[in-house]
Amino acid sequence: MAAKSNEIYNFTVSPSVIKADTDSTVIIESQSGTFSFFDGMEYDVIFIPTEKSDVPSDEEMSLSGWDKNRVVHTFKAKDGKLTLTHKFLGEQEWRIKISSTEERYDQYENDNNIAFSRGRWKYIAAVKKGITLSVYSLYPDLYERNVKKCDFHIHTNFSDGTETPERTTANYRKKGFDIISITDHNIYNASAEVAKKLDFMHNFKLIPGEEVHNGYARQLHIVNVGSKYSVNDIFLDEPERVKAEVEALKGEVEVPEGVDEREYLYRVWTYREIKKSGGYAIYPHPFWTWKGHYHVETDMSEAVMKNGLCDAFELLGGCSVKENNLQVALYYSLQKNGLKMPIVGSSDSHTTMPGAQWFDEDSTVLFEKDGDTIGAIDGGYSVAVESVQGEEIRVFGDFRMMKYTHFLIENYFARRAEICNASGIFVERYLLGDTGCRDIICACEDRIKKFENEFFGR
Ligand SMILES: [Zn+2]
Ligand SMILES: [Zn+2]
Repeated sequence: MAAKSNEIYNFTVSPSVIKADTDSTVIIESQSGTFSFFDGMEYDVIFIPTEKSDVPSDEEMSLSGWDKNRVVHTFKAKDGKLTLTHKFLGEQEWRIKISSTEERYDQYENDNNIAFSRGRWKYIAAVKKGITLSVYSLYPDLYERNVKKCDFHIHTNFSDGTETPERTTANYRKKGFDIISITDHNIYNASAEVAKKLDFMHNFKLIPGEEVHNGYARQLHIVNVGSKYSVNDIFLDEPERVKAEVEALKGEVEVPEGVDEREYLYRVWTYREIKKSGGYAIYPHPFWTWKGHYHVETDMSEAVMKNGLCDAFELLGGCSVKENNLQVALYYSLQKNGLKMPIVGSSDSHTTMPGAQWFDEDSTVLFEKDGDTIGAIDGGYSVAVESVQGEEIRVFGDFRMMKYTHFLIENYFARRAEICNASGIFVERYLLGDTGCRDIICACEDRIKKFENEFFGR
């Protein structure tokens, strides 16, 4: 996920996420050779809210008055840092513009008997122009939640994917994923071994899963995440029992008009079995074009979502932009008519090697509480992220969380991915048998945690 500008690499802003409407302290430190904070020197700071304007709209307001009306705060640097205190009102992104003046620089040089010498012009230009950094103020319900990057639909060589669960998992950590579920076709919990080997990684989670298929009624696919056992196995081991139980649903279940009865009843049976297995049923890729037609007829997709035959909708996933667009449009249309449906974005990746299509293109950003991943999806605390290579990142879902996610994409994920990449490299070696890498993984994971704690002020 791409950074907004180099400034997020040149400065640390701790914390970058702030509780709204409370007196807060933000510490800014330069990692840049050009714009540094000099002890005792004064800096001018303007806090610019993106949503609720701080500029009073009275009769004096004009285009030029806008900036004039902005309150300038002055802070003195200490220990190479600038410590800002401010009450960030409302839930929104804030731009923090920091600058100083040539006069102050002159004064600083005189007072300290130093000269910035030949590089001076550069310092002065930079400090006069100023820098703009961002923070985000949040209301308590989102503030207390932990941000997780997730993918709930992944294939490995246990079915038609290319890499082992080991390599797949390592490559996901490299890209900054925190929670993944490997959901092979017809195979349950392909990541069981890996999960056992990585159970010391407290900040990274593998959830058992499978993509349930039913070869009998058209192409029924449903992703089963977090179940205790395989629903696929029932299809494979006891086809006659399944057939009889589906037959018995006739009469009990009302089949909506316009959809295939047999397929619908199989969907009812499958959903009920997923719930029995303790799993979470995610409805994937209805507009994936398969054998010339959509994977699922739109009438059926509507029936599945309206009648609760899934727990969440894979809003984006393993599809072309057009196919994903259709899914997004269907979701918003149904929502307009009152449907409340949790969403995820999943890659449906079949390979994680460099340049792979799908991998890391569609993902979920989840706002998790108390480690309850499914509860967070189900409670609507997720957005789907589309990150097609070479294009700007798009976020879909609830407006509030989508806006916050854009801030996180620009300021958080890109920087954190660098440390996650380091961890993932050693996860890969560790899973290939180099047990000495365990301590390095722990050290990397500690740094990731530290970065998160500083960013979110924990
Ligand atoms: Zn596949
Ligand atoms: Zn599928």
